[in-house]
Amino acid sequence: MFSRPAAGLEDTPRGSAAQALLRNCVHCGFCLPACPTYRVTGNELDSPRGRIYLIKQMVEGAPATATTREHLDRCLTCRACERACPSGVEYGRLIDLGRELVEERVPRTLPQRALRRSFVELLSRPRLFAAALRAGQAMRGWLPATVQARIPPRPSPAAIGTASHHARRVVLLEGCVQPGLAPGINAAAARVLDRIGIGVERVAGEQCCGALGHHLGHTGRALEQARRNVDACCAALDAGAEAVVSSASACGLMVKDYGRLLAEDAAYADRARRVSGATRDLAEIIDPADLSRAGLAPGTGLRVAWQAPCTLQHGQQLGGRVEALLQAAGFGLEPTREATLCCGSAGTYSILQPGLSGELRRRKVAALTVGSPQAIATANIGCLEHLRGTSPVPVRHWIELVAEALERQPAA
Ligand code: SF4
Ligand code: SF4
Repeated sequence: MFSRPAAGLEDTPRGSAAQALLRNCVHCGFCLPACPTYRVTGNELDSPRGRIYLIKQMVEGAPATATTREHLDRCLTCRACERACPSGVEYGRLIDLGRELVEERVPRTLPQRALRRSFVELLSRPRLFAAALRAGQAMRGWLPATVQARIPPRPSPAAIGTASHHARRVVLLEGCVQPGLAPGINAAAARVLDRIGIGVERVAGEQCCGALGHHLGHTGRALEQARRNVDACCAALDAGAEAVVSSASACGLMVKDYGRLLAEDAAYADRARRVSGATRDLAEIIDPADLSRAGLAPGTGLRVAWQAPCTLQHGQQLGGRVEALLQAAGFGLEPTREATLCCGSAGTYSILQPGLSGELRRRKVAALTVGSPQAIATANIGCLEHLRGTSPVPVRHWIELVAEALERQPAA
């Protein structure tokens, strides 16, 4: 797709990037059936190809409107379209660029800006978020049913501890909402890693990975959080940690992208690339053979349905890894439908686009329970909490299931 950046964008890094990204799209439309929003609305402007046209028009200087912004807002950034595209269009980078342009040209109202800012401030501060969550849990009975449905039950306290006696050590990222919503996930990860001979450590000064701010158009704030994490993780890597590990696939994807996001920052580019190169999803650190050596055997556990978060299967392209680990840990995998479609969680999308998000969740829960599983397993806290809202069976992080299976085994 040929484009000519308008005055003000031509001969700028952003204009050149837009031109290069747009060039690969050949308008074929193969991406349309892969797009969850297009599948729901049937509107071309809610498809990848339609949004690419809207971005091209903005790049070329055509006026952007609130309608342009609405169609870009409806994108989940799930990147299912990238996997379906035969021309290798990097849609994720294009939508980031499109959102930057639309935020500049179609300013939101003051209440809209305040709401989005409050999400970034509240959700990216673990202590503030945990305090707000505790208050909501305490007042649950007095809140409207729609609000109650969004507040998960209070989890059991869990500490990840340390296992400094192991020669192998990794940084285990805490994340920002996960410690408040489900502290048991990282506690389970630490126990499993300890069992296979890997110690975990937290890094002082860890911030939100920045994904929340990045997708809400608060790019400066997101990059500042990325720089703080690069500082913290480089110090841990210098001290001998072999990897930076995330148990939330959305956060892991963001940290893996720091090298690209900070490429123009001379003070951080090299170290950001180093941190991105050392970052692993939890499923990349554990091997099915580790679980076999610990005494686990296939076919002995619950029947589960696997929900692959978009950030794991499309973003990090790690499809198949968790499935192999679950099977090695004894779990039976039930058949599901529409495995590549987003569940509708997508960070704050479920709050900002409740209609589309709710419909996608309804479809996803139906697709996941078609084989009557005993539980649903996933790899990202956002998907877990979103699906938990209407799932008829428990929704768990896969590492919690593996930890429980291991704990039923005598130590090797
Ligand atoms: S599949 Fe790729 S090349 Fe075809 S319309 Fe979609 S983004 Fe463009
Ligand atoms: S990222 Fe997801 S929602 Fe957005 S256009 Fe691509 S497939 Fe559709």
